[in-house]
Amino acid sequence: MADKSIKQPENVPGKYYVDQTCVPCNDCVKEAPNLLEYSADETHIFFKNQPKNQAEEKQAKAAMAMCPVDAIGDDGE
Ligand code: SF4
Repeated sequence: MADKSIKQPENVPGKYYVDQTCVPCNDCVKEAPNLLEYSADETHIFFKNQPKNQAEEKQAKAAMAMCPVDAIGDDGE
């Protein structure tokens, strides 16, 4: 389970976030390219946007479900 106390600093505020256990394998970006982005130093992924509609919410959930290290959480604020 992702830990909101160790969020990546670039995450936009909101429900979804990536924490500091991200590997990064880059798989989640393919699921939600409008929501997720590689950091400038390519060490991790972060949420650049929160979902704004049902389709994007589905993408965020899909990204969360497929993360191999459970680095994506949906209990942020
Ligand atoms: S799927 Fe998980 S580990 Fe892989 S890049 Fe995304 S957040 Fe990081």
